[in-house]
Amino acid sequence: MKFLNHARKALLASAAIMLGASVSYGANLKYVFYFIGDGMGSAEVTNAQLFNKKVLGNDSPLLMTTFPVVSLITTHSASSDVTDSAAAGTALATGHKTKNGMLGMDADTVAVTSIARTLFENGYGVGLVTTVAIDDATPGAFYAHVPNRRMFYEIGKELAESGYQFAAGASLRGTKDKNGNDNGLMDHFKKNNVAVSYGLDGIDKKAKKQLVLSPFHAEMDNEVGLAIDSLENALTLPEMTQACLDHLLRTSPGRFFMMVEGGSIDHNGHSNDGGASVRETINFDNALKIAYDFYLKHPNETLILVTADHETGGMSVGCKTTGYSARPEVARAQKISKDKFNEYCRDLVKSGTTPSWEEMQSFLSEKLGYGSAVILSDEEMNGLRDVYATSFMKKEPWRFVDKAISILNAKSGFGWTTGDHTGHPVPVYAIGVGADRFTNFNDNTDLPKKILKITGKTPKSRK
Ligand SMILES: [Zn+2]
Repeated sequence: MKFLNHARKALLASAAIMLGASVSYGANLKYVFYFIGDGMGSAEVTNAQLFNKKVLGNDSPLLMTTFPVVSLITTHSASSDVTDSAAAGTALATGHKTKNGMLGMDADTVAVTSIARTLFENGYGVGLVTTVAIDDATPGAFYAHVPNRRMFYEIGKELAESGYQFAAGASLRGTKDKNGNDNGLMDHFKKNNVAVSYGLDGIDKKAKKQLVLSPFHAEMDNEVGLAIDSLENALTLPEMTQACLDHLLRTSPGRFFMMVEGGSIDHNGHSNDGGASVRETINFDNALKIAYDFYLKHPNETLILVTADHETGGMSVGCKTTGYSARPEVARAQKISKDKFNEYCRDLVKSGTTPSWEEMQSFLSEKLGYGSAVILSDEEMNGLRDVYATSFMKKEPWRFVDKAISILNAKSGFGWTTGDHTGHPVPVYAIGVGADRFTNFNDNTDLPKKILKITGKTPKSRK
């Protein structure tokens, strides 16, 4: 009995300590930055790190890799060892595993609450930023609840009704019905007093709620524009991150939660475009600098967490052709993404134009650095010429693009094993209040649970 009393007292004491710790953490943690590199595994980070040093000449490493806490998380979903972005986004946003394809619902299709919603209901401002469509899986997991990630009208409507202060991304893809007619989705934003702008210049500084979409939303609906392509007037992740921070400081300066997604790292992984991938990861790290500058001013009130939802492409650092070396410098002269290169060749074929081999060679030289950064043997050049001839003749120009980019990958040491996602664990980098809670190997569902625990907040509504 005496022992029991002692045990109970000890238990109460440790509960009080834990409560005290969480109260003091919760009182202190006012600003949460959750950075998610979609498809960003450790090879993506390492190749970007090497490119940053060897090609861009930056002596300081990527910012995320300098954070004091570095660990790993699992990525598998409830239905597969290899997750999709909907299940992974749901895990990172809500702390629940679900089946691939499902968003904001658990595997039994029960709606689950994201930490953005819980913090919003506890008085935090919320901002979501991505380089892909704002109704895509990763941002969607922070506000939507649908059994299928392609239910874009429903996802968009939930964003309009979320009450969140800021959202920015490429587009909303659910604005038309099956027949291509306006289905009234944008009216829901109007009804909920969300100002909508197409580009950052149109932001209404007096609006409490702002949605920013890309000026190119009609022609590029799931991409604001890749970093490597540097499209004029395109939204960029660092600029959107800054605009989101500025807006949250206007509307909810006391406390806020921000999710920033580098969504295009995944796109470059799917297309196996190493030169575009390294630039996109560096772009993501540049957006992180904005949060880090804020952290430096508020170190005792801010947590920055950087992670990925999964890896894409099975990328490696060094590959069969480069042996014990990685040569990202070979991709230094690449000025066009594989996606844009494909578009260029497809448009040529559509217009009935077949460029001569000499014209194509000068394109390769100007846009990919062929002949300068990328040196081909006669045999390789002849092989590429053969692929050029047959693919344009058969009106299948993507075969030529694929060949030209795979030569560049092979010489740069960017190895790829798949065009899909992989089941690798992915990195976590953390700094600030409560960062020490992320030192171990976590399940992906642990991250949002731990963030909430640090804030000391609990869900108020069911979803
Ligand atoms: Zn993907």
